[in-house]
Amino acid sequence: MSATIPAANHRTSISAKGSLMLPEDTPVQAQNPHENALELLAIAARHLQLDPGIHEILKHAERELTVNFPVKMDNGTMKTFTGYRVQHNIARGPSKGGLRFSLGATIEEVRALAMLMTWKCAIVNIPFGGSKGGVLCDPKQLSVGELERLTRRYTSEIGILIGPDTDIPAPDMGTNAQTMAWVMDTYSMSKGRTVPAVVTGKPVSVGGSEGRNDATGRGIVFVTREALREYGKRLADARVAVQGFGNVGGATARIFHEMGARVVAVSDAGGGLYNPNGLDIPALLECANRDGTLTTHTGGKPISSAELLELDVDVLVPAAIENQITGDNAHRIKAPIVVEGANGPTTPEADRILRDNGVFLVPDVLANAGGVVVSYFEWVQDLQFFFWQEEEVNAKMEAIMVHAYRDVRQTARREDVDMRLAAYIIGVSRVAEAATIRGIYP
Ligand code: NAD
Repeated sequence: MSATIPAANHRTSISAKGSLMLPEDTPVQAQNPHENALELLAIAARHLQLDPGIHEILKHAERELTVNFPVKMDNGTMKTFTGYRVQHNIARGPSKGGLRFSLGATIEEVRALAMLMTWKCAIVNIPFGGSKGGVLCDPKQLSVGELERLTRRYTSEIGILIGPDTDIPAPDMGTNAQTMAWVMDTYSMSKGRTVPAVVTGKPVSVGGSEGRNDATGRGIVFVTREALREYGKRLADARVAVQGFGNVGGATARIFHEMGARVVAVSDAGGGLYNPNGLDIPALLECANRDGTLTTHTGGKPISSAELLELDVDVLVPAAIENQITGDNAHRIKAPIVVEGANGPTTPEADRILRDNGVFLVPDVLANAGGVVVSYFEWVQDLQFFFWQEEEVNAKMEAIMVHAYRDVRQTARREDVDMRLAAYIIGVSRVAEAATIRGIYP
Protein backbone atom coordinates (compact mmCIF):
# COMPACT_ATOMS: atom_id res chain seq x y z
CA MET A 1 0.00 0.00 0.00
CA SER A 2 1.54 3.32 -0.99
CA ALA A 3 1.48 6.51 1.06
CA THR A 4 -1.91 7.89 2.01
CA ILE A 5 -3.48 11.05 0.60
CA PRO A 6 -2.72 14.19 2.62
CA ALA A 7 -5.20 14.74 5.42
CA ALA A 8 -8.12 17.00 4.67
CA ASN A 9 -7.02 20.01 6.63
CA HIS A 10 -3.89 20.36 4.48
CA ARG A 11 -5.01 22.28 1.44
CA THR A 12 -4.28 20.54 -1.85
CA SER A 13 -4.00 21.83 -5.37
CA ILE A 14 -7.46 20.42 -6.09
CA SER A 15 -9.18 21.96 -3.13
CA ALA A 16 -7.52 25.32 -3.56
CA LYS A 17 -9.86 25.72 -6.52
CA GLY A 18 -13.30 27.07 -6.04
CA SER A 19 -14.47 29.15 -3.17
CA LEU A 20 -17.80 30.46 -4.38
CA MET A 21 -20.01 27.63 -3.19
CA LEU A 22 -21.82 29.53 -0.44
CA PRO A 23 -21.26 33.19 0.34
CA GLU A 24 -20.28 33.95 3.92
CA ASP A 25 -23.71 35.47 4.59
CA THR A 26 -25.59 32.29 3.68
CA PRO A 27 -27.88 31.32 6.59
CA VAL A 28 -25.94 28.43 8.05
CA GLN A 29 -28.76 26.75 9.93
CA ALA A 30 -30.93 26.25 6.83
CA GLN A 31 -31.57 22.49 7.17
CA ASN A 32 -34.99 22.37 5.52
CA PRO A 33 -34.16 20.33 2.40
CA HIS A 34 -36.28 22.50 0.12
CA GLU A 35 -34.76 25.73 1.46
CA ASN A 36 -31.31 24.22 0.89
CA ALA A 37 -32.26 23.28 -2.68
CA LEU A 38 -33.57 26.80 -3.37
CA GLU A 39 -30.42 28.35 -1.92
CA LEU A 40 -28.23 26.26 -4.21
CA LEU A 41 -30.38 27.18 -7.20
CA ALA A 42 -30.14 30.88 -6.25
CA ILE A 43 -26.33 30.72 -6.09
CA ALA A 44 -26.13 29.01 -9.49
CA ALA A 45 -28.66 31.49 -10.94
CA ARG A 46 -26.58 34.43 -9.66
CA HIS A 47 -23.45 32.94 -11.13
CA LEU A 48 -25.16 32.34 -14.50
CA GLN A 49 -26.91 35.73 -14.42
CA LEU A 50 -30.04 33.74 -15.15
CA ASP A 51 -33.11 35.53 -16.45
CA PRO A 52 -35.24 36.24 -13.32
CA GLY A 53 -38.34 34.83 -15.03
CA ILE A 54 -36.60 31.51 -15.76
CA HIS A 55 -35.21 31.44 -12.22
CA GLU A 56 -38.74 31.92 -10.91
CA ILE A 57 -40.00 28.98 -13.02
CA LEU A 58 -37.21 26.73 -11.75
CA LYS A 59 -37.92 27.57 -8.10
CA HIS A 60 -41.28 25.83 -8.28
CA ALA A 61 -42.35 22.26 -8.88
CA GLU A 62 -44.65 22.04 -11.90
CA ARG A 63 -46.98 19.49 -10.29
CA GLU A 64 -47.45 18.21 -6.76
CA LEU A 65 -49.90 15.49 -5.83
CA THR A 66 -50.72 14.49 -2.24
CA VAL A 67 -52.62 11.27 -1.71
CA ASN A 68 -54.15 9.87 1.48
CA PHE A 69 -55.08 6.25 0.99
CA PRO A 70 -56.17 3.25 3.05
CA VAL A 71 -54.35 -0.05 3.36
CA LYS A 72 -55.72 -3.24 4.93
CA MET A 73 -53.24 -4.36 7.59
CA ASP A 74 -52.53 -8.01 8.40
CA ASN A 75 -54.40 -7.79 11.72
CA GLY A 76 -57.63 -6.84 9.94
CA THR A 77 -57.52 -3.11 10.77
CA MET A 78 -57.30 -0.33 8.21
CA LYS A 79 -54.62 2.34 8.20
CA THR A 80 -54.47 5.54 6.17
CA PHE A 81 -51.09 6.52 4.67
CA THR A 82 -49.99 9.78 3.08
CA GLY A 83 -47.91 9.83 -0.08
CA TYR A 84 -46.65 12.36 -2.61
CA ARG A 85 -45.51 12.57 -6.19
CA VAL A 86 -43.81 15.79 -7.25
CA GLN A 87 -42.74 16.68 -10.81
CA HIS A 88 -40.29 19.53 -10.72
CA ASN A 89 -39.54 20.18 -14.38
CA ILE A 90 -40.11 18.50 -17.76
CA ALA A 91 -38.34 20.96 -20.09
CA ARG A 92 -35.77 18.32 -21.15
CA GLY A 93 -38.06 15.27 -21.22
CA PRO A 94 -40.40 13.10 -19.12
CA SER A 95 -39.71 13.41 -15.41
CA LYS A 96 -37.68 10.75 -13.65
CA GLY A 97 -37.23 10.18 -9.95
CA GLY A 98 -37.17 7.64 -7.17
CA LEU A 99 -39.88 6.48 -4.81
CA ARG A 100 -39.01 6.53 -1.13
CA PHE A 101 -40.77 4.78 1.77
CA SER A 102 -39.59 6.58 4.87
CA LEU A 103 -40.74 8.43 7.96
CA GLY A 104 -38.85 11.46 6.61
CA ALA A 105 -40.77 11.53 3.32
CA THR A 106 -42.49 14.89 3.86
CA ILE A 107 -43.68 17.13 1.02
CA GLU A 108 -40.70 19.45 1.69
CA GLU A 109 -38.25 16.58 1.29
CA VAL A 110 -39.92 15.14 -1.81
CA ARG A 111 -40.09 18.62 -3.39
CA ALA A 112 -36.37 19.17 -2.78
CA LEU A 113 -35.44 15.75 -4.14
CA ALA A 114 -37.55 16.30 -7.27
CA MET A 115 -35.58 19.47 -7.99
CA LEU A 116 -32.31 17.63 -7.37
CA MET A 117 -33.37 15.06 -9.99
CA THR A 118 -33.90 17.79 -12.59
CA TRP A 119 -30.30 18.97 -12.16
CA LYS A 120 -28.91 15.44 -11.91
CA CYS A 121 -30.45 14.32 -15.23
CA ALA A 122 -29.20 17.49 -16.90
CA ILE A 123 -25.67 17.15 -15.46
CA VAL A 124 -25.27 13.66 -16.94
CA ASN A 125 -27.11 14.92 -20.03
CA ILE A 126 -29.90 12.35 -20.27
CA PRO A 127 -33.28 13.40 -21.71
CA PHE A 128 -35.30 13.55 -18.50
CA GLY A 129 -36.74 16.13 -16.18
CA GLY A 130 -36.92 15.59 -12.42
CA SER A 131 -39.51 14.14 -10.05
CA LYS A 132 -39.72 12.25 -6.78
CA GLY A 133 -42.24 10.26 -4.80
CA GLY A 134 -42.60 9.26 -1.21
CA VAL A 135 -44.88 7.52 1.25
CA LEU A 136 -44.66 8.42 4.94
CA CYS A 137 -44.13 5.04 6.57
CA ASP A 138 -41.53 2.83 8.20
CA PRO A 139 -41.19 -0.08 5.73
CA LYS A 140 -39.37 -2.15 8.37
CA GLN A 141 -42.59 -2.20 10.44
CA LEU A 142 -44.70 -3.54 7.54
CA SER A 143 -45.08 -7.15 6.41
CA VAL A 144 -44.43 -8.09 2.78
CA GLY A 145 -48.19 -8.30 2.19
CA GLU A 146 -48.78 -4.86 3.72
CA LEU A 147 -45.95 -3.39 1.65
CA GLU A 148 -47.41 -4.88 -1.51
CA ARG A 149 -50.90 -3.52 -0.80
CA LEU A 150 -49.47 -0.11 0.13
CA THR A 151 -47.36 0.02 -3.06
CA ARG A 152 -50.25 -1.02 -5.29
CA ARG A 153 -52.72 1.45 -3.81
CA TYR A 154 -50.18 4.31 -3.91
CA THR A 155 -49.37 3.45 -7.56
CA SER A 156 -53.04 3.51 -8.40
CA GLU A 157 -53.47 6.89 -6.63
CA ILE A 158 -50.58 8.50 -8.55
CA GLY A 159 -51.58 6.74 -11.79
CA ILE A 160 -52.81 10.06 -13.18
CA LEU A 161 -49.21 11.34 -13.22
CA ILE A 162 -46.92 8.41 -13.97
CA GLY A 163 -46.42 6.73 -17.34
CA PRO A 164 -43.61 5.72 -19.71
CA ASP A 165 -43.63 9.10 -21.45
CA THR A 166 -44.71 11.30 -18.55
CA ASP A 167 -43.07 10.35 -15.25
CA ILE A 168 -41.03 7.24 -14.48
CA PRO A 169 -40.38 6.17 -10.84
CA ALA A 170 -37.40 4.10 -9.62
CA PRO A 171 -36.17 2.68 -6.29
CA ASP A 172 -34.93 4.89 -3.48
CA MET A 173 -34.74 4.64 0.30
CA GLY A 174 -36.96 1.85 1.64
CA THR A 175 -37.94 0.53 -1.81
CA ASN A 176 -36.28 -2.02 -4.11
CA ALA A 177 -36.67 -4.07 -7.29
CA GLN A 178 -39.66 -5.97 -5.85
CA THR A 179 -41.44 -2.67 -5.11
CA MET A 180 -40.84 -1.60 -8.72
CA ALA A 181 -42.27 -4.91 -10.00
CA TRP A 182 -45.48 -4.19 -8.03
CA VAL A 183 -45.62 -0.65 -9.46
CA MET A 184 -45.19 -2.02 -13.00
CA ASP A 185 -47.82 -4.72 -12.50
CA THR A 186 -50.38 -2.34 -10.96
CA TYR A 187 -49.96 0.24 -13.71
CA SER A 188 -50.08 -2.49 -16.38
CA MET A 189 -53.31 -3.92 -14.94
CA SER A 190 -54.92 -0.49 -15.23
CA LYS A 191 -53.92 -0.36 -18.92
CA GLY A 192 -54.76 -3.98 -19.77
CA ARG A 193 -51.29 -4.61 -21.19
CA THR A 194 -47.74 -4.89 -19.90
CA VAL A 195 -46.04 -1.49 -19.69
CA PRO A 196 -42.49 -2.19 -18.45
CA ALA A 197 -41.20 1.33 -19.24
CA VAL A 198 -43.44 2.94 -16.58
CA VAL A 199 -40.85 2.27 -13.89
CA THR A 200 -37.13 1.39 -13.72
CA GLY A 201 -35.08 -0.62 -11.26
CA LYS A 202 -37.30 -3.67 -11.88
CA PRO A 203 -36.07 -7.27 -11.64
CA VAL A 204 -34.44 -8.38 -14.91
CA SER A 205 -37.14 -11.06 -15.33
CA VAL A 206 -39.82 -8.37 -15.85
CA GLY A 207 -37.93 -5.90 -18.04
CA GLY A 208 -35.27 -4.63 -15.67
CA SER A 209 -31.80 -3.84 -16.95
CA GLU A 210 -28.70 -5.85 -16.25
CA GLY A 211 -26.46 -3.74 -14.05
CA ARG A 212 -29.24 -1.55 -12.57
CA ASN A 213 -28.99 -2.91 -9.01
CA ASP A 214 -25.34 -1.95 -8.76
CA ALA A 215 -25.49 1.13 -10.96
CA THR A 216 -25.51 3.87 -8.33
CA GLY A 217 -22.67 2.21 -6.42
CA ARG A 218 -20.67 1.49 -9.58
CA GLY A 219 -21.05 5.12 -10.70
CA ILE A 220 -19.82 6.29 -7.28
CA VAL A 221 -16.73 4.10 -7.68
CA PHE A 222 -16.09 5.48 -11.20
CA VAL A 223 -16.16 9.11 -10.05
CA THR A 224 -14.05 8.25 -6.99
CA ARG A 225 -11.47 6.71 -9.31
CA GLU A 226 -11.42 9.95 -11.33
CA ALA A 227 -11.01 12.06 -8.17
CA LEU A 228 -8.22 9.83 -6.85
CA ARG A 229 -6.41 10.11 -10.17
CA GLU A 230 -6.01 13.83 -9.57
CA TYR A 231 -4.06 12.96 -6.43
CA GLY A 232 -1.91 10.51 -8.38
CA LYS A 233 -3.69 7.63 -6.64
CA ARG A 234 -5.31 4.42 -7.78
CA LEU A 235 -8.34 2.71 -6.27
CA ALA A 236 -5.99 -0.04 -5.13
CA ASP A 237 -4.14 2.49 -2.96
CA ALA A 238 -7.23 3.90 -1.28
CA ARG A 239 -8.69 3.30 2.18
CA VAL A 240 -12.44 3.88 2.04
CA ALA A 241 -15.26 4.32 4.59
CA VAL A 242 -18.90 3.92 3.49
CA GLN A 243 -21.81 5.08 5.64
CA GLY A 244 -25.03 3.19 4.78
CA PHE A 245 -25.26 -0.41 3.63
CA GLY A 246 -28.47 -0.46 1.57
CA ASN A 247 -29.06 -0.30 -2.20
CA VAL A 248 -26.35 2.33 -2.61
CA GLY A 249 -23.90 1.81 0.26
CA GLY A 250 -23.89 -1.99 -0.01
CA ALA A 251 -23.15 -1.99 -3.74
CA THR A 252 -20.60 0.82 -3.37
CA ALA A 253 -18.67 -1.07 -0.69
CA ARG A 254 -18.76 -4.32 -2.69
CA ILE A 255 -17.58 -2.71 -5.95
CA PHE A 256 -14.78 -0.82 -4.15
CA HIS A 257 -13.77 -4.16 -2.66
CA GLU A 258 -13.94 -5.92 -6.05
CA MET A 259 -11.89 -3.18 -7.69
CA GLY A 260 -9.10 -3.50 -5.13
CA ALA A 261 -9.75 -0.62 -2.72
CA ARG A 262 -9.47 -1.31 1.02
CA VAL A 263 -12.91 -0.76 2.57
CA VAL A 264 -11.96 -0.22 6.23
CA ALA A 265 -15.36 0.83 7.63
CA VAL A 266 -19.05 0.45 6.84
CA SER A 267 -22.18 1.18 8.82
CA ASP A 268 -25.96 0.88 8.75
CA ALA A 269 -28.70 2.31 10.95
CA GLY A 270 -27.64 -0.08 13.76
CA GLY A 271 -23.96 0.99 13.84
CA GLY A 272 -20.73 0.24 12.06
CA LEU A 273 -17.59 -1.87 11.89
CA TYR A 274 -13.98 -0.76 11.46
CA ASN A 275 -10.97 -2.82 10.48
CA PRO A 276 -7.84 -0.93 9.36
CA ASN A 277 -6.72 -4.00 7.40
CA GLY A 278 -9.93 -4.00 5.35
CA LEU A 279 -13.33 -5.61 5.93
CA ASP A 280 -14.64 -8.79 4.29
CA ILE A 281 -17.43 -7.03 2.39
CA PRO A 282 -19.03 -10.14 0.79
CA ALA A 283 -19.33 -11.69 4.28
CA LEU A 284 -20.82 -8.48 5.64
CA LEU A 285 -23.38 -8.35 2.83
CA GLU A 286 -24.34 -11.94 3.57
CA CYS A 287 -24.69 -11.04 7.25
CA ALA A 288 -26.83 -7.96 6.48
CA ASN A 289 -29.07 -10.05 4.19
CA ARG A 290 -29.47 -12.71 6.85
CA ASP A 291 -29.80 -10.59 10.02
CA GLY A 292 -31.09 -7.29 8.60
CA THR A 293 -27.97 -5.54 9.95
CA LEU A 294 -24.21 -5.82 9.56
CA THR A 295 -23.61 -5.18 13.26
CA THR A 296 -23.93 -8.86 14.18
CA HIS A 297 -20.72 -9.57 12.24
CA THR A 298 -17.50 -9.90 14.23
CA GLY A 299 -14.95 -9.02 11.54
CA GLY A 300 -14.15 -5.55 12.87
CA LYS A 301 -14.24 -3.20 15.82
CA PRO A 302 -17.77 -1.86 16.49
CA ILE A 303 -18.02 1.88 15.89
CA SER A 304 -20.93 4.27 15.60
CA SER A 305 -22.06 5.64 12.27
CA ALA A 306 -20.98 9.11 13.45
CA GLU A 307 -17.48 7.85 14.31
CA LEU A 308 -17.18 6.33 10.84
CA LEU A 309 -17.49 9.78 9.29
CA GLU A 310 -14.45 11.02 11.23
CA LEU A 311 -12.06 8.16 10.43
CA ASP A 312 -8.64 8.78 8.94
CA VAL A 313 -9.33 7.40 5.45
CA ASP A 314 -8.61 8.52 1.89
CA VAL A 315 -12.22 8.50 0.72
CA LEU A 316 -15.43 8.96 2.70
CA VAL A 317 -18.73 7.99 1.06
CA PRO A 318 -21.83 9.04 3.02
CA ALA A 319 -24.44 6.79 1.36
CA ALA A 320 -27.23 6.59 3.94
CA ILE A 321 -29.42 9.62 4.66
CA GLU A 322 -29.45 13.44 4.63
CA ASN A 323 -27.65 15.86 6.92
CA GLN A 324 -24.91 13.55 8.20
CA ILE A 325 -22.00 15.99 7.79
CA THR A 326 -23.05 19.13 9.62
CA GLY A 327 -21.61 22.24 11.23
CA ASP A 328 -21.00 20.11 14.33
CA ASN A 329 -18.75 17.44 12.83
CA ALA A 330 -17.47 18.86 9.50
CA HIS A 331 -14.25 20.21 11.03
CA ARG A 332 -13.42 16.71 12.31
CA ILE A 333 -13.69 15.04 8.86
CA LYS A 334 -10.21 13.74 8.04
CA ALA A 335 -10.87 12.24 4.60
CA PRO A 336 -9.43 14.49 1.87
CA ILE A 337 -12.04 13.24 -0.61
CA VAL A 338 -15.77 13.04 0.17
CA VAL A 339 -18.01 11.43 -2.46
CA GLU A 340 -21.71 11.96 -1.74
CA GLY A 341 -23.50 8.65 -2.31
CA ALA A 342 -26.69 9.77 -0.54
CA ASN A 343 -28.73 12.78 -1.58
CA GLY A 344 -28.01 15.80 0.61
CA PRO A 345 -25.70 14.20 3.21
CA THR A 346 -23.82 17.50 3.71
CA THR A 347 -25.48 20.62 5.10
CA PRO A 348 -24.62 24.01 3.55
CA GLU A 349 -22.68 25.00 6.67
CA ALA A 350 -20.68 21.77 6.56
CA ASP A 351 -20.05 22.31 2.87
CA ARG A 352 -18.33 25.57 3.66
CA ILE A 353 -16.25 24.08 6.48
CA LEU A 354 -15.13 21.17 4.30
CA ARG A 355 -14.18 23.53 1.51
CA ASP A 356 -12.24 25.78 3.88
CA ASN A 357 -10.42 22.70 5.20
CA GLY A 358 -9.39 21.68 1.71
CA VAL A 359 -11.68 18.67 1.34
CA PHE A 360 -12.42 17.77 -2.28
CA LEU A 361 -16.13 16.97 -2.46
CA VAL A 362 -17.85 15.22 -5.36
CA PRO A 363 -21.51 16.32 -4.99
CA ASP A 364 -24.57 14.02 -4.93
CA VAL A 365 -26.00 15.35 -8.21
CA LEU A 366 -22.92 13.98 -9.97
CA ALA A 367 -21.64 11.20 -7.72
CA ASN A 368 -24.82 9.13 -7.39
CA ALA A 369 -26.14 9.71 -10.93
CA GLY A 370 -25.07 6.22 -12.13
CA GLY A 371 -28.45 4.90 -10.97
CA VAL A 372 -30.48 7.26 -13.10
CA VAL A 373 -28.15 6.74 -16.06
CA VAL A 374 -28.82 2.99 -16.03
CA SER A 375 -32.50 3.71 -15.37
CA TYR A 376 -32.40 5.66 -18.63
CA PHE A 377 -30.87 2.60 -20.33
CA GLU A 378 -33.58 0.41 -18.79
CA TRP A 379 -36.30 2.71 -20.10
CA VAL A 380 -34.76 2.70 -23.60
CA GLN A 381 -34.50 -1.13 -23.54
CA ASP A 382 -38.14 -1.45 -22.35
CA LEU A 383 -39.42 0.89 -25.07
CA GLN A 384 -37.60 -1.18 -27.70
CA PHE A 385 -38.10 -4.61 -26.08
CA PHE A 386 -34.43 -5.17 -26.90
CA PHE A 387 -32.07 -5.95 -24.02
CA TRP A 388 -28.35 -5.43 -23.54
CA GLN A 389 -25.61 -7.44 -21.84
CA GLU A 390 -24.32 -6.21 -18.47
CA GLU A 391 -20.86 -5.38 -19.90
CA GLU A 392 -22.49 -3.06 -22.43
CA VAL A 393 -24.60 -1.37 -19.75
CA ASN A 394 -21.60 -0.86 -17.45
CA ALA A 395 -19.36 0.43 -20.23
CA LYS A 396 -21.96 2.91 -21.50
CA MET A 397 -22.62 4.13 -17.94
CA GLU A 398 -18.90 4.50 -17.25
CA ALA A 399 -18.49 6.62 -20.38
CA ILE A 400 -21.31 8.95 -19.32
CA MET A 401 -20.13 9.23 -15.70
CA VAL A 402 -16.50 9.91 -16.62
CA HIS A 403 -17.57 12.46 -19.21
CA ALA A 404 -19.86 14.19 -16.68
CA TYR A 405 -17.12 14.19 -14.03
CA ARG A 406 -14.65 15.79 -16.44
CA ASP A 407 -17.26 18.31 -17.57
CA VAL A 408 -17.91 19.36 -13.98
CA ARG A 409 -14.19 19.40 -13.12
CA GLN A 410 -13.41 21.57 -16.14
CA THR A 411 -16.22 23.97 -15.24
CA ALA A 412 -14.94 24.12 -11.66
CA ARG A 413 -11.48 25.07 -12.90
CA ARG A 414 -12.71 27.52 -15.54
CA GLU A 415 -15.14 29.33 -13.23
CA ASP A 416 -12.89 28.92 -10.16
CA VAL A 417 -15.71 27.37 -8.15
CA ASP A 418 -16.10 24.13 -6.20
CA MET A 419 -17.50 20.92 -7.68
CA ARG A 420 -21.04 21.40 -6.33
CA LEU A 421 -21.45 24.85 -7.81
CA ALA A 422 -19.82 23.68 -11.06
CA ALA A 423 -22.33 20.81 -11.30
CA TYR A 424 -25.23 23.18 -10.61
CA ILE A 425 -23.94 25.64 -13.21
CA ILE A 426 -24.05 22.87 -15.83
CA GLY A 427 -27.39 21.41 -14.71
CA VAL A 428 -29.26 24.68 -14.25
CA SER A 429 -27.94 26.18 -17.49
CA ARG A 430 -29.01 23.12 -19.53
CA VAL A 431 -32.53 23.19 -18.08
CA ALA A 432 -32.77 26.97 -18.50
CA GLU A 433 -31.67 26.64 -22.12
CA ALA A 434 -34.35 24.01 -22.82
CA ALA A 435 -37.03 26.12 -21.11
CA THR A 436 -35.98 29.20 -23.08
CA ILE A 437 -35.84 27.45 -26.47
CA ARG A 438 -39.22 25.80 -25.92
CA GLY A 439 -40.76 29.12 -24.90
CA ILE A 440 -43.68 29.69 -22.57
CA TYR A 441 -47.01 28.09 -23.51
CA PRO A 442 -49.39 29.43 -24.81
P1 NAD B 1 -31.73 2.01 1.47
O1 NAD B 1 -32.96 2.15 2.25
O2 NAD B 1 -31.54 0.82 0.58
O3 NAD B 1 -30.46 2.03 2.45
C1 NAD B 1 -30.25 3.02 3.40
C2 NAD B 1 -29.11 2.52 4.29
O4 NAD B 1 -28.77 3.55 5.21
C3 NAD B 1 -29.49 1.29 5.14
O5 NAD B 1 -28.36 0.44 5.21
C4 NAD B 1 -29.78 1.89 6.50
O6 NAD B 1 -29.59 0.97 7.56
C5 NAD B 1 -28.74 2.99 6.52
N1 NAD B 1 -28.96 4.03 7.49
C6 NAD B 1 -30.10 4.69 7.82
N2 NAD B 1 -29.84 5.59 8.78
C7 NAD B 1 -28.50 5.53 9.02
C8 NAD B 1 -27.61 6.20 9.89
N3 NAD B 1 -28.04 7.13 10.71
N4 NAD B 1 -26.31 5.86 9.86
C9 NAD B 1 -25.86 4.90 9.03
N5 NAD B 1 -26.64 4.24 8.18
C10 NAD B 1 -27.94 4.54 8.19
O7 NAD B 1 -31.57 3.37 0.65
P2 NAD B 1 -30.69 3.62 -0.66
O8 NAD B 1 -31.53 3.37 -1.86
O9 NAD B 1 -29.38 2.93 -0.50
O10 NAD B 1 -30.52 5.20 -0.59
C11 NAD B 1 -29.52 5.81 0.21
C12 NAD B 1 -29.32 7.22 -0.26
O11 NAD B 1 -28.91 7.23 -1.63
C13 NAD B 1 -30.57 8.10 -0.23
O12 NAD B 1 -30.18 9.42 0.06
C14 NAD B 1 -31.09 8.01 -1.64
O13 NAD B 1 -31.90 9.14 -2.00
C15 NAD B 1 -29.79 8.02 -2.41
N6 NAD B 1 -29.86 7.48 -3.77
C16 NAD B 1 -30.35 6.24 -4.02
C17 NAD B 1 -30.34 5.72 -5.32
C18 NAD B 1 -30.77 4.32 -5.65
O14 NAD B 1 -30.58 3.90 -6.81
N7 NAD B 1 -31.33 3.57 -4.73
C19 NAD B 1 -29.85 6.52 -6.37
C20 NAD B 1 -29.35 7.78 -6.07
C21 NAD B 1 -29.34 8.24 -4.78
